[in-house]
Amino acid sequence: MSILQSLSTIVQRVNAAPDLQSALNIIVRDVRSSMGTEVCTVYMADHDEGRLVFAATEGLNREELGNVSLNFGQGLVGKVASREEPINTSNAQEHPDFQYLEDIGEEAFNSFLGVPIVHHRTVLGVLVVQQTDRRSFDESEEAFLLTMAAQLASVIAHAQATGALEPSNDRTVVNAEFRGIAGASGVAIGQALVVSPPADLYSVPSRRSRDIYEELVFFRACVSRVRKDVALLSSQLADRLPPEELALFEVYAKMLDQHALPAEIEALIEAGEWAQGAVARVVLAHLRQFEQMENSYLSERAVDVKDLGRRLLEYLQQAAHEPMIYPENVILVGNEITATMLAEVPREKLAGIVSLKGSHNSHVAILARSMGVPTVMGAVDLPFTEIEGNELIVDGYAGVVFFNPSLELRASYQQIAEEEQLVSRGLEALKDLSCETTDGHKISLMVNTGLASDVSRSLDRGAEGVGLYRTEVPFLMRDRFPSEEEQRAIYRMHLEAFAPKPVTMRTLDVGGDKSLPYFLIHEDNPFLGWRGIRVTLDHPEIFLPQVRAMMKASEGIDNLRIMLPMITHMEELDQSIALIKRAYKELLDEDFKINFPSIGVMIEVPAAIYLTREMASKVDFISVGSNDLTQYLLAVDRNNPNVADLYLSYHPAVLQSLQLIVLAAHEVNKPVSICGELASDPGAALLLLAMGYDSLSMNATNLPKVKSVIRAFSKQEADHLLQQVMLMDSADRVQTAVEDMLESRGVTRLFRDSRRERDAR
Ligand code: PEP
Ligand code: MG
Repeated sequence: MSILQSLSTIVQRVNAAPDLQSALNIIVRDVRSSMGTEVCTVYMADHDEGRLVFAATEGLNREELGNVSLNFGQGLVGKVASREEPINTSNAQEHPDFQYLEDIGEEAFNSFLGVPIVHHRTVLGVLVVQQTDRRSFDESEEAFLLTMAAQLASVIAHAQATGALEPSNDRTVVNAEFRGIAGASGVAIGQALVVSPPADLYSVPSRRSRDIYEELVFFRACVSRVRKDVALLSSQLADRLPPEELALFEVYAKMLDQHALPAEIEALIEAGEWAQGAVARVVLAHLRQFEQMENSYLSERAVDVKDLGRRLLEYLQQAAHEPMIYPENVILVGNEITATMLAEVPREKLAGIVSLKGSHNSHVAILARSMGVPTVMGAVDLPFTEIEGNELIVDGYAGVVFFNPSLELRASYQQIAEEEQLVSRGLEALKDLSCETTDGHKISLMVNTGLASDVSRSLDRGAEGVGLYRTEVPFLMRDRFPSEEEQRAIYRMHLEAFAPKPVTMRTLDVGGDKSLPYFLIHEDNPFLGWRGIRVTLDHPEIFLPQVRAMMKASEGIDNLRIMLPMITHMEELDQSIALIKRAYKELLDEDFKINFPSIGVMIEVPAAIYLTREMASKVDFISVGSNDLTQYLLAVDRNNPNVADLYLSYHPAVLQSLQLIVLAAHEVNKPVSICGELASDPGAALLLLAMGYDSLSMNATNLPKVKSVIRAFSKQEADHLLQQVMLMDSADRVQTAVEDMLESRGVTRLFRDSRRERDAR
């Protein structure tokens, strides 16, 4: 077998292991045999105790597993861990760092190769191979072991995290903690409800059925529908396919035989599991077995089992016969929570959100912030299919989810939730006060909207208008494009609710992490692909009805502003304006009495920074989309939790760019606002005010906090802070300076977010 093959076979086997200890046992067994060594051992780090525990071995004394350990830095193994580097020696006993470990039986082995197992900069353990003969392991062996350790690190981290929940594990951890990324601030205590996309075997939660008998009948009906489909397909293809390919249908029929897969599934249903969960569990167990097989014919059968499993699941899901009953305080959990999933839970029941995929500035996190629902994104290690119905605590400040919380932890989070309510009640008094500094400098605070529920929340909090209405949100909630008339009605409601205050409607901005279920875009690099204005300019039949609907909706109110996303080239701006003018002319010809709206450009692509002046001179206003601008400036995917701690809005390059944009737009006397999430950060708001931004647009939840901070400082103080931070060369230093300034005025309670998040890292 080639090295690559053995690497991937081992990783697959380890992946399929039911728990951490079995995973480690597979590692030592397989690595020893593929490298042909006498010993292979894993030492696991216990960071609380600062020790490396003898955890799994082939070749040394198994009886001492778990009993023997070393300090970091102690002996060769400890040195590998503390230096985070391999050690390769032909004579371990004579190595200056050698330390004899009693009872594990390593005295006979002279050559030693140890590599660290590192996951996200944390040493999880050390992987060691040993031999009796005195010889150095060669370069390719060292490289193999290093590669192995690097590949296994995330598998081990995952097994470690999920181990805390194993029902068979008598050490079920109290306050089991799963780290993710802060998505929306606040804390929530509630019951996990797992949601999954259709026909995805990997996302089906384990759930108790309400009636075992009904569930069995339901499952059998679905099996017979799949049997019929398979028979029909087979007869339709009978004269077109060669016999060896037709044999596949026989395999399917055998697998669907009452004594095969269905019998196993029914056994689980009889034990109380709902049919979807039983199908997923049985099929996934078979898949794991098949994938471990070296025989390629058999491992290909995995594809067939998966296909059958999906077909069954599809029928079960289509015909799902039980309406969803939402408990109070739902914590919505899923592999990838989407805007539509959010919208399905009644707002009064939705307490928190946990998504395994996504990061702080994913769109679903932005929606959650605007709804004020505490959210953790990127909780990649949470075994989400196994936790339905359990109590969870969502800490949306620190980006942490707790499973099986103790009474003490629960009480302390309850207290934080109560404090939060006090703070927000205190802030209600600010609603009708203007947003100005202590020396009278005003800046207007606008709100970002999308959901219908944003309207009343925004008005309650004293927003001076809408700085960004994400029109794609109503598009996301449907199964087809809304018609011009449907759009007009939605836009009219929005414009009327805020009139006479301005409402900035952004033209459809899909692509990236926002895909419409009925207009899917498949790309390798979606954030650098067909997004925003690029899509709508290619589809005037989508763009024109949208701007027509917006303008029609503004008849008699005149508070509409139209904003264009993702503009990179001057031509895109020219073409967009030409289309809007064409739509306007058509509407005048159709006798609508409307005024031409203000037009604005979003600056969210680095190239546009350098065209701000030219663009601003062609439009009425500029608005900075700092979410995308930051992702593109720092080359950090806003949706990827692996790089979330590099997404730094206080990075000097971001601050310099933001300053350049205001200066350029003001040169041609055009107002500038910022509608990215940075505007809702109370500390950043001070810097933006000092830079000269005319307005800040943010989620309704944070608006009172930002107002309260701006009202606590003078413009002079903000200017001074800006001068200082513009000389700094790192985001961390800027953040510390800003937080110190806020702290000096005692407004720290308002930015619990950043401090706790940083502490958690
Ligand atoms: C932005 O990019 O900053 C922005 C406001 O747009 P969105 O977050 O919807 O991409
Ligand atoms: Mg954007």
